[in-house]
Amino acid sequence: MTLRLTCTLTACSLAILPALAQAPSLANINTQLREQETKDSQLMWWLHEVTDVYGPRVTGSPGLRAAQDFAVGQMVKWGFSNVHLEAWNFNHPGWQNWDLQANAISPFQQPLNVRAVAWTPGSNGPVQGPVVVVEPPQPPAGAGRGGRGGGGGFGGGRGGGLTPEELAAIQNPGSAPPPMPPVVARENKPVTQADLDSYLASIKDKVRGAVIFYGPHVQVAENFVPAPLRRDENSWSQPGGRGRRGGAPTAAAAAGGRGGRGGRGGATAADGAPAEGLTAAEVAQQVNKFLIENGALVKVTDAGRAYGVIAQQSSAGYNENPNNPNLPSLLMGNEDYGRIYRTVTIDHIPVVLRINIHNEFYPTGRTVYNVVGELPGSDKADEVVMNGGHFDSWNAATGATDNAAGGAVAVEALRLIQTLNLPHRRTIRVALWSGEEEGLYGSIAYVAQHFGSAENPKPEWFRLDAYLNLDDGTGKPRGASVFGPPEAAAMVQTAMDNFKDWGFYHVNPTLGRQTGGTDSTSFNNAGLPGVGYSQDPFDYNTYTHHTNFDTYERIYEPDMREAAIEEALTLYALANADQMVPRCSAATMPAPPAGRGGGGRAAGGRGAGNVPVTPVAPFSLPPGVNPPERPNPCTAAPPAQAAPVSLPTASAPGQRR
Ligand SMILES: [Zn+2]
Repeated sequence: MTLRLTCTLTACSLAILPALAQAPSLANINTQLREQETKDSQLMWWLHEVTDVYGPRVTGSPGLRAAQDFAVGQMVKWGFSNVHLEAWNFNHPGWQNWDLQANAISPFQQPLNVRAVAWTPGSNGPVQGPVVVVEPPQPPAGAGRGGRGGGGGFGGGRGGGLTPEELAAIQNPGSAPPPMPPVVARENKPVTQADLDSYLASIKDKVRGAVIFYGPHVQVAENFVPAPLRRDENSWSQPGGRGRRGGAPTAAAAAGGRGGRGGRGGATAADGAPAEGLTAAEVAQQVNKFLIENGALVKVTDAGRAYGVIAQQSSAGYNENPNNPNLPSLLMGNEDYGRIYRTVTIDHIPVVLRINIHNEFYPTGRTVYNVVGELPGSDKADEVVMNGGHFDSWNAATGATDNAAGGAVAVEALRLIQTLNLPHRRTIRVALWSGEEEGLYGSIAYVAQHFGSAENPKPEWFRLDAYLNLDDGTGKPRGASVFGPPEAAAMVQTAMDNFKDWGFYHVNPTLGRQTGGTDSTSFNNAGLPGVGYSQDPFDYNTYTHHTNFDTYERIYEPDMREAAIEEALTLYALANADQMVPRCSAATMPAPPAGRGGGGRAAGGRGAGNVPVTPVAPFSLPPGVNPPERPNPCTAAPPAQAAPVSLPTASAPGQRR
């Protein structure tokens, strides 16, 4: 080798070195992220703080606010920028359960497995009384406009129907359930006002000073085909197969995404016409009012699941409407409810309970917050790649898998990028939402305030690259959906292809703009690239989702660490890409759903007539205006051509590049 050649090579190396330093390959970054997360993970420590120290984190509660203050302080310590709480208007008081005891004191003595129903009042000190079973006539399933407000979803459906293996197991005589007494069918006729009035008259003398057991004991079927912790490889490896989530184009695909969360709302009759007679919600409302007026102490409902699982996931109407008041209300574990119910109804032996429920409402909680923090970008710093998850939980436990997990993964992803000092051209922003459990309200408010919608975009709409969201428990990501054209999914797929060794398969484009399920759909709803991960289920739908067992112990650390690395690499790839994630062009953007972001249907079931008023972007078309026919799938376009309303040309940020 000549001297001249050596010099030339050195010159060449020097010339290309800065370019390499600016843009290391994704494989190189992937290696760095894996090493860093292996030697210095903070993920489980963060999860411990958020769950053990600060849980539960109900929207508007002091518990959530304390957790948010912790999050802000810790992100600042880790060197994140622009860390702050961002207010939005929940329009409801905050609520927190402080103290709860329930014991059977006669004829047997037993501590009882109970949880307080969110947004119901306390008992004003200990109360004691006999159990009275109240079983008002119920309208046929599906009648009317609302269910029992959050009682749905029991049974832990997994979405997408049975697998061939499950079907085979059920059809195999050896695994068939033993013969059981026939279930007595409920009378399938509408409930008239006269029916209800006569029932209430029949119990009027019994309810004063009583603990009301509301509804029959739920006979939980044996589960002969327990759900696996991981779905089989085939179900993930097929493109567009099970596990899609987040506004999938068809109802069937959307149902496959989440599973088990069904039954959130009642519905109209099967033919779509309003059913005759009272709805279940109207029956419940009238009975509640009657029980309060006639001096009942506490209302107890069977949690309806085996092994003491209590899914506390009802707002119970926030207790604000004087025409729809609540009694102090508890959900009781199926086994305790069953013992007492049988003793009262079969043996006619009075069972006396002593109960103390201390709940507080917080008017100051009317203003609630999202937590936001950033890692500022370089030459494209005004463009933003976001990730996040909801920080709020229900109150039955500490909300570990739903969804301290998603927030922990998101924050850990930013911390990894910050710690490794990875270069990124765009700003990377994490958001920890509140109000998700009541209807995605925190993220909907944030999207409305910052971005507007495809139909009415704010300047920031053109600068939001994508939003990554994890909210399906503790399993690792196995697939994802991205709102927008196939090119948008392809950009995310390019990053996620680095995780084939961890079992990640497909990124699918989705065009659904309905809100529902989780916060990525709030972005989809606005026509923005929301990315929702599909995860291995673990015991999310069977044991932890919204239940008294959603604790730190149910977090599976290896999968959560993988998720953090995967989010970090995707954020890095998007933040350094030459172009932002493309959207549907203005001509091919799917029409916005009717009503408030399509949330009307979901909200009807959640609150049973108590839909919160939140600052939701008005996406509905004017009366009488039908959306134009739109081609499907959409055609990719950069942000500037993706919205019908253009910004002033000089400052249109989407056109800058
Ligand atoms: Zn969640």
